[in-house]
Amino acid sequence: MSSAAPSNPAVKNHTLPSYLNADALGPWGIYLQQVDRVTPYLGSLARWVETLKRPKRALVVDVPIEMDNGTIAHFEGYRVQHNMSRGPGKGGVRFHQDVTLSEVMALSAWMSVKNAAVNVPYGGAKGGIRVDPRTLSRSELERVTRRYTSEINFIIGPNKDIPAPDVNTNEQVMAWMMDTYSMNSGSTATGVVTGKPISLGGSLGRREATGRGVFVVGSEAARNLGLEIRGARVAVQGFGNVGAVAAKLFHEAGAKVVAVQDHRTALYNPAGLDVPAMMEYASHSGTIEGFQGETISAEQFWHVDCEILIPAALEGQITAQNAPHIKARMVIEGANGPTTPEADDILRERNILVAPDVIANAGGVTVSYFEWVQDFSSFFWTEEEINQRLVRIMQEAFRAIWQVAQDNKVTLRTAAFIVACTRILQAREMRGLYP
Ligand code: NAD
Repeated sequence: MSSAAPSNPAVKNHTLPSYLNADALGPWGIYLQQVDRVTPYLGSLARWVETLKRPKRALVVDVPIEMDNGTIAHFEGYRVQHNMSRGPGKGGVRFHQDVTLSEVMALSAWMSVKNAAVNVPYGGAKGGIRVDPRTLSRSELERVTRRYTSEINFIIGPNKDIPAPDVNTNEQVMAWMMDTYSMNSGSTATGVVTGKPISLGGSLGRREATGRGVFVVGSEAARNLGLEIRGARVAVQGFGNVGAVAAKLFHEAGAKVVAVQDHRTALYNPAGLDVPAMMEYASHSGTIEGFQGETISAEQFWHVDCEILIPAALEGQITAQNAPHIKARMVIEGANGPTTPEADDILRERNILVAPDVIANAGGVTVSYFEWVQDFSSFFWTEEEINQRLVRIMQEAFRAIWQVAQDNKVTLRTAAFIVACTRILQAREMRGLYP
């Protein structure tokens, strides 16, 4: 597949606000490069492309809390609403010590693209707090979550912007967010967040949905490459909500999960790691460190012999340094933004298929959409119904994007961006500018 694109005279350069500068490398710069790559394929809609290059709204908040020892700590929080042309904002909240505004902006933009790529009726948003939650007690974590929610309260809501879990946030954090929003608004609003506990209006199947979507997309991509899942060797970076579930589903389908890396270690077993036992182990210890298997270095992880590589940890992991050594036939992006544009080019030249994040990890937001719909109607579906609908949406979306890639001789990432950006900008054009 080639990335050669026709030039489009409708595209003009505009001066960007300083905080949107693409030269400042980082996730936002990567996202802008991705938009530039797709712009020539947008036809007359390209006149609206600047819409995609700036968030609609970016809120930075101070989150002060009293720590257990009586001191006052301040954390920086963000909620970015990138685009709401197709519906309310939707996207997770990340708690991590390295979160930046640039990162949250990029993640919010990827949510716009993802939601449009799988055609769920949402715009894109994302939030984060610059904090290492592992250093907080449970009550400190609750205070951080509640104060953050109060600070962003006026821009979220079931019809405005619906947060969800992301790195280091979970059902409990969503329950606190839902409760805080509900207390502030005077009535219980289950639909303000997704990824909630089942007892508070959460959806069956939500916890596994992103990993399940990774598996569905991986299976579709494998079929198109003529690769059998049974017996295929799989390497997974990240063993959390996404990575562990994807590893489990590939394991159950007969694949051999030969390598897993988390924030503490990387384990290798050419005969296949015992994924269910490893999940049980990690659920107690919070890491795979100490589980049986040969320990390999973070660098060696990328050199492992495998057919399927699943980055499911953080962004910027597959780089120009490690991409030349990757042995996989395909990369299924469980994480958001795990591949840098330079690495993308290297993988394309090496004929390694990349199923991009905006489709590969869209299972979570798809079941979040089901959760939101169920909350509105207070009528809940069975897990079987959820999984069937999830598989159907993911397969249809992947097949449509595959076809666009074939028709335009572009990568799946560019194809996904063509499909998604076209939908977003069509909505933008139909709505027009107000006032
Ligand atoms: P998680 O917190 O449950 O797990 C993250 C995993 O990554 C952990 O195993 C952690 O040890 C590992 N990790 C962290 N830093 C690492 C490093 N430097 N090197 C190797 N491993 C490292 O998070 P998650 O929900 O599984 O999310 C993982 C990725 O998937 C993120 O990019 C997130 O944005 C994306 N994602 C998540 C969802 C979802 O529903 N949870 C949906 C779409 C995309």
